[in-house]
Amino acid sequence: EGTRQSPLLDGLNPQQKEAVEYRGQALLIIAGAGSGKTSVLTRRVASLLETRDAWPSQILAITFTNKAAAEMRERVHAILGQGSDGMWISTFHSSCVRILRREAEKIGLSSTFSIYDSADTKVTLKRIIKGLDADTYGFTPGSAGAKISKLKNELADADSYARNANMSDPQEVMFVEIFRQYSARLRAASALDFDDLIGETVYLFRAFPKVAALYRRRFRHLLVDEYQDTNHAQYALVHELTRPVTAELAQEMDDDGVHVRNLRDASGAIPGASLTVVGDSDQSIYAFRGADTRNISGFERDYPGAKVILLEQNYRSTQNILSAANAVIGHNFDRTDKKLWSAGGDGEKIVGFTAYSGHDEAQFVSDEIQVLHAAGMAYRDMAVFYRTNAQTRALEEILVRSATPYRVVGGTKFYERAEIKDALAYLIAVANPVDELALRRILNTPKRGIGPATETGLSSFADDNDLTFRQAMRNSAALGLGPKVTGAILKLAELLDAAALMLVPTSVTADGVPVGAANVSEVLEFLLNGCGLLAVLRGSRDPQDEVRAENIEELVAQTKDFNKENPDGGLVDFLTQVSLVAAADDLDDASGTVSLMTLHTAKGLEYEAVFLTGVEEGLLPHQMSANEPGGPAEERRLFYVGITRARKRLYLSLAMTRAQFGDINVAMPSRYLQEIPAELIDWKQSPGMANSRGGTQPRALNARRDGGFGGFGNSVGSSSDGYGGRSGYGNSAKPAGLPPGKPKTEWANKITGTVRDNGSLELAAGDRIRHHDFGEGRVNQVTGEGTKRIAHVQFDTAGAKKLLIKIAPIEKI
Ligand code: ATP
Ligand code: MG
Repeated sequence: EGTRQSPLLDGLNPQQKEAVEYRGQALLIIAGAGSGKTSVLTRRVASLLETRDAWPSQILAITFTNKAAAEMRERVHAILGQGSDGMWISTFHSSCVRILRREAEKIGLSSTFSIYDSADTKVTLKRIIKGLDADTYGFTPGSAGAKISKLKNELADADSYARNANMSDPQEVMFVEIFRQYSARLRAASALDFDDLIGETVYLFRAFPKVAALYRRRFRHLLVDEYQDTNHAQYALVHELTRPVTAELAQEMDDDGVHVRNLRDASGAIPGASLTVVGDSDQSIYAFRGADTRNISGFERDYPGAKVILLEQNYRSTQNILSAANAVIGHNFDRTDKKLWSAGGDGEKIVGFTAYSGHDEAQFVSDEIQVLHAAGMAYRDMAVFYRTNAQTRALEEILVRSATPYRVVGGTKFYERAEIKDALAYLIAVANPVDELALRRILNTPKRGIGPATETGLSSFADDNDLTFRQAMRNSAALGLGPKVTGAILKLAELLDAAALMLVPTSVTADGVPVGAANVSEVLEFLLNGCGLLAVLRGSRDPQDEVRAENIEELVAQTKDFNKENPDGGLVDFLTQVSLVAAADDLDDASGTVSLMTLHTAKGLEYEAVFLTGVEEGLLPHQMSANEPGGPAEERRLFYVGITRARKRLYLSLAMTRAQFGDINVAMPSRYLQEIPAELIDWKQSPGMANSRGGTQPRALNARRDGGFGGFGNSVGSSSDGYGGRSGYGNSAKPAGLPPGKPKTEWANKITGTVRDNGSLELAAGDRIRHHDFGEGRVNQVTGEGTKRIAHVQFDTAGAKKLLIKIAPIEKI
């Protein structure tokens, strides 16, 4: 007796079980990577439904990506074997869009409001900065946009910012003006940017308590995954949604006929919804976007009486991988230590690889992928991570050559292609006629003889006469432009008006259902035919235009799929879906390809084998963050996230030289590498760097110990990461991750292998050399100085190459 339990608790450890079954007001689950946080959240949703503690419509579960939302929905469905209609499982942004579309009018927006992505924001800011000559104050669309975004994530607006800003500083005055104009432009266009989606929802709830009360009444259970990466606005949103409804307001609702009686407590109020958040402060990697781990650390203060559950068993990775992860993250200060352990055994050692170049590194990755594949591992179970998108080039080149099926996750950016944005702008202009940005985008696309002067003329004409851009177009005759231009403008306006009419239902059924409205693909095809965009591309001789035409056809196909999948979905629903697509949504587990992605995109995912590439100073930590307070600590968390994605096999690779912006840079191993206990890693190196000529080894070793490549000399030790130099390689202190008794040079040798140092090799034009891989050749020219001297060599068989003399595997003959 008492042992019978729901199958949805099967296999859970006691802490996980407790988290699934807990029924109090507030629950915080903090645990390291792979400990089952997301799984527990999913089962908790299923459990709430199974025990009838909640109806599907009373649940709001927030995931970090749309993809994670879809997965959670599927799993809940699989566990319960029933649909979960009415349940909201979505990202913060998607939930807010749903709420705002319903309530838009209350805050002065059209329900068909546009959603601006970062490119739209940039265009808008560019125009504002130009109009204000603000570039002379040092503002760029990028810098102003980042600052505005940061402020919006703190729920500030231009006015509130101005109240606290130093307005005797002309730069501040200018920024406030940019911020004001930006907000005004979006407002006039009935557009919201991504940050607004959250901020405006918070504003809506605060300004309209009755509206807030409706959502508080509806969502009785809120669950948030990846809580460590919530920013202040998201935190406030959660707070607004989980607050109680006062007795007075509840009474008003009751009087209004809103059914709340069964929810009211003895005092007549509706208690706040239950809130479950899960997170891992060690995986907070979005501080640069305003994420604040204090949302986790302050949880018990914000929700007094909250239950806290810790999960410590990791079900994802082998112990070797976990030990490495624990050791690395242990170097961050200001954290609660949580030791992850695995019952899965030590597993294989981590493989470290030092490559000569990025190319060489890619070759290694590709070869290992083939080895794993030959041993039976599916391509889809492998992933390659990198810090920056630029690193994909070498990888893709080699993977293509070795015919390895791969996919760059979030790299295709279909919706960011110019031709797709053009086609979408037509749809947006139909859905939201006041969106000036969309109208200006299509004004002369395809070319219809409307020049930039006319475009700005229309815009000022609109401003001066208090018209929208669209109204200005309709009244363009008043501008005294040539008849051809005026005709073209009017024709475009008429095309858009005609498309808008197609969306109006033609009749109403006996049950009052409107019918006869065109669906998304019909409207898109009508617009494309009417404007001639597709025809122009098809008729072009530029082969790129053929690709562009195919992309637009793909968009048309997507609208058809959308119609099928969403029979009730309208144009605005389609546009919303497109706007909210995120990088990780690009994943396709079934596709049987190796996944390539940035470390940021990898969050929450897991793979049998993970290749973490470019583990070098400058990339990881990234040079941009190396000198920022907290930067290297956040980069370390990123490294931790990457390591903990691996289930069985982990490869850490670095290249000694990396081509960047047409330059070849010498790279140093990442400071984080020496934080991993040496015995966990099996170091290999590029054959081109092997000690094939024994005689040179001691010299190379000595040279390195003196601060050559890979020698962790003073140069790295002094680059403090803002954490008391704890992870630096000081002169005296032994690096923390080293096993006792081993000198740091020995450890460093392990990482870099036996690297040659040709620092003193005299080379001049005309010299003949021998290269380990390329054979013999003649030096044409030597450029650069010191450690950056480059030999331009014409090889007898391998063609022309540029080699970094200091470390290239070459000798004079
Ligand atoms: P992250 O911090 O990376 O988001 P997480 O804590 O959310 O990780 P999950 O993704 O939920 O962890 O779980 C990691 C892996 O462990 C998954 O493959 C999951 O199916 C598995 N897992 C979780 N709990 C158990 C369990 N009790 N028994 C067996 N496997 C489990
Ligand atoms: Mg998770």
